[in-house]
Amino acid sequence: MFIPELLSPAGNLDKLKVAINYGATAVYLGGQKFGLRSAADNFTEMELREGVAFAHSRSAKVYVVLNSFLHDSEIEELPPFVHLLEELKVDAVIVSDLGVALTVSEHSNIEIHLSTQSSCLNAEAAKMWKRVGITRVVLGRETSIEDAAKIKKLSGVEVEMFIHGAMCMSFSGNCVLSNYTAGRDANRGGCSHTCRFLYTLESGDEKKQAFFMSSKDLNGLMLLPQYIEAGIDSLKIEGRMKSHLYAGTTAMAYSKCLDHYREHGDLPASVLEEFHQELFKVTHREYTEASLISPAGADSIYDEREHDEREFIAVGNILEVTEGQSLTMDVRTAFHPGDTLEILTFSDGVAKVKLDFVHNVMGETEDRTRPGTVVKIPYVKGVEVGNIIRIEGPLCK
Ligand code: SF4
Repeated sequence: MFIPELLSPAGNLDKLKVAINYGATAVYLGGQKFGLRSAADNFTEMELREGVAFAHSRSAKVYVVLNSFLHDSEIEELPPFVHLLEELKVDAVIVSDLGVALTVSEHSNIEIHLSTQSSCLNAEAAKMWKRVGITRVVLGRETSIEDAAKIKKLSGVEVEMFIHGAMCMSFSGNCVLSNYTAGRDANRGGCSHTCRFLYTLESGDEKKQAFFMSSKDLNGLMLLPQYIEAGIDSLKIEGRMKSHLYAGTTAMAYSKCLDHYREHGDLPASVLEEFHQELFKVTHREYTEASLISPAGADSIYDEREHDEREFIAVGNILEVTEGQSLTMDVRTAFHPGDTLEILTFSDGVAKVKLDFVHNVMGETEDRTRPGTVVKIPYVKGVEVGNIIRIEGPLCK
């Protein structure tokens, strides 16, 4: 049975482990140079070694982004890093620049995936990239699922599509807003998110303030059956800069649905709806299905900003499980006895726990927890070390 890969962002080593523990079958990450997230917590050589070893020990793949557009002086610096990646046995690199693709293939046997930054939207382009050694194309976000299936069939290359996360309102890889407004090159890792700003539009005597360029966030979970039927090889979640809670929740929601399909051969609406609701519990803009079915238009712009939802806040992680008695956790955000916490388990979905007691490590009752401390809370079956714990936050408006 064909099951697509679930490809999660790994903004740092901890998030890599979180994503894989919650079901991602591949992760993508950046080294210290050559990627498009210069402000991210990018991987050092030691972290890369540990991350690749961790992923491979759990049969997950690691892709390293080299998707910046480089000048000649930077291309000269690339081969030593490519040699390191080959030595570490990373599973592929993701490139945008033809010069980078050729340099990688001249200096290694690492598989090469084409970044969405290269805006591949058709089979002819995919065939051309195949000729220079590309084995997978991360399609431009303007591609529909139907077109993606045709591109795969006609070109014979693997196709990867975004399924979740923040979107660009511009054509992938062709935005120069930051260059002109902030002196930062979006295509070389410097996007300043200029499209998210509030602008004043003037026409004659009329003036209007609007977030007219800010896209809603992509959420393709309800279309997961279409992705599977179309044979999309890899489902990509955006968000290397986002939180552990985001990494865990998104990996859990999509992987649980894929697991259901693997076990039962179908994906009923009730299962999709259950995990769709989980995606409303992480920080997000309003959701859109963007161009997955038909081209995105004005209804994909996040202008009104009405948002009557309660998002959840991470309060800590499980450090120890004392079978049948208690759970030990670190506290990142304060909570009280009587609160209800939700624990994201690795295999059983979300477990709720009403806090009949909260004890400190000396066994004394705590009236209010303090961030940076360790406490014990009631035991819940199915919970494991490393599970993320969250609590419902205030209403977002
Ligand atoms: S400014 Fe906005 S549209 Fe342009 S690259 Fe950045 S996020 Fe995308």
